[in-house]
Amino acid sequence: MNGSILALNAGSSSLKFRLYEVHGEQFTLILRGQFDGLNATPHLTVKEASGKEIADLDLELEDNMREDMLSRIFEIIVPYTVNNPLRAVGHRVLHGGERFSAPVLLDDAVLDYLETLVPMGPLHQPANLASVKLFRKIRPDLPQVACFDTAFHVNIDERAARYPIPRRYGDKGYRRFGFHGLSYTYIAERLHQISDYLARKRSVVAHLGNGSSLCAMRNGKAVDTTMGMTPLGGLMMGTRSGTVDPGLVLALIETEGLSPADLKHMLYYDSGLLGVSGISPDLRDLLASDEPYAAQAIALYVFSATREIASMAASMEGMDALVFTAGIGENSAVIRKMICDRLAWIGVTLDEEANQANAAIISAPESRIEVRIIPTDEEVVLAKQTAKVIGEGEHGEAAA
Ligand code: ADP
Repeated sequence: MNGSILALNAGSSSLKFRLYEVHGEQFTLILRGQFDGLNATPHLTVKEASGKEIADLDLELEDNMREDMLSRIFEIIVPYTVNNPLRAVGHRVLHGGERFSAPVLLDDAVLDYLETLVPMGPLHQPANLASVKLFRKIRPDLPQVACFDTAFHVNIDERAARYPIPRRYGDKGYRRFGFHGLSYTYIAERLHQISDYLARKRSVVAHLGNGSSLCAMRNGKAVDTTMGMTPLGGLMMGTRSGTVDPGLVLALIETEGLSPADLKHMLYYDSGLLGVSGISPDLRDLLASDEPYAAQAIALYVFSATREIASMAASMEGMDALVFTAGIGENSAVIRKMICDRLAWIGVTLDEEANQANAAIISAPESRIEVRIIPTDEEVVLAKQTAKVIGEGEHGEAAA
C-alpha cells in the first residue's frame, strides 16, 4: 500500500493522532499531535517528526467539541498529504470481544457489535467509538479500521482465560481478554528483531503507564496477562484499583450503599496511586512528594507489580527475560530498581548504572534473567495493522 495513514488513539480525556507516510513496508512518521484536557480546557499540540512545532494552543471548543477537534485534524494534515493521499484512519479500539481477533474494516454491523462491549470497557470503549462515528460522519468516503487492544491475547492459556464462575456465564463471554495488545504486539516484534533466541524465551513484559499491565509472552504469543474481562483488573494503576477481592465490591454495595455508578467511578477514577496517596495519579508527583501517603502508594504499586510479575512467571513455569515499557517502565529508574530488587530471589540482578542511564539492557551480565527497556510504539502498530487491512482489501478487489 502507498499513501498516508492517520492513526488515532482516543481516550476519555485525551486524543492522540499520528500521520504516517506508507510506501510498501516502509512507515515514516510525518506528524504527531495531541489534544489534552478534553474534560476541562482543551489544548492542542502538533509537531512534525523532526520536532518542529506546528501548533501549541488552548482551544475554545463548545458543545460539538470532539467533532471540531477531528475536523481540525483533517485541516492540519492537508498540506502533508498532497503527494501521499490519505488512504485510511486506524482507530485504537479497546475491546474486540470474542468476535475480533484481528483488525477489521469498520461498518455499521461491526460498530453495533462493538457497542455491546461497552460494559467491558466503560471508560475507553465509548470514547473510542465516539471518535469512530464522528470520523465516519466527517469523512464517509474514508475507510476506517478498528485495531483492538484485546486481539494480542486471543489465544492465552485457557486456564488464564476462564474465570471460576458457573459455566453458563463463561459461555456467554465473561472471561479474561487482556489489553494493551497494540503495545505488546510492538514489543513482540522488537524482541523478534533483537534476537530470535530472545523472542522464543519466556518473557514477562511490564507495560507500566497510567494504565498498567503485564503480559507473559513466549514465541511472540501471549500466554497470560494481568488485566481481565475489563481493563480494571490486575495491577494497581494511576487511578484504577486493579484486582481487588470481589467480596470487597459486594461489601461496598451492601454496607456502604454505593451504587453501580459510584463503584464504577471509584474503581476506575478514584483508586490506584491517586486513591492511596490522596495526592496524584502521576508517579512523578508522588516521587517528588515528602508525604507519607505518597511513599505508601509507591510502595503498594511496586509490591503489586512484583507480585504479579512472579505470577506471570508461574504461568509460564519460568521466566528468562523481563521487559519494561510505557511511561513508568521506560522512564523511572527508581521504580525499575525497586521492582528488580524485589525480584532478586527469582534471578534478577540489576546493573545500577545501566538502569540509571535508561540503557537497552539493564541487567548485570551475571543476572539469570535478562532485563531490558524497550520503548513501546502503539501508534505505528495501528498504522501497520490499518495498512494491512486496506492492502488486503485492494488485493481482494483486484483479484475479484
Ligand atoms: P498512558 O497509559 O496514559 O499512555 P504513559 O505510558 O504515558 O500513560 O505513562 C504515564 C505515567 O508515566 C505517569 O504516571 C507518569 O508519571 C509516568 N512517567 C513518565 N515519565 C516519567 C519519569 N521520567 N519518571 C517517572 N515516571 C514517569
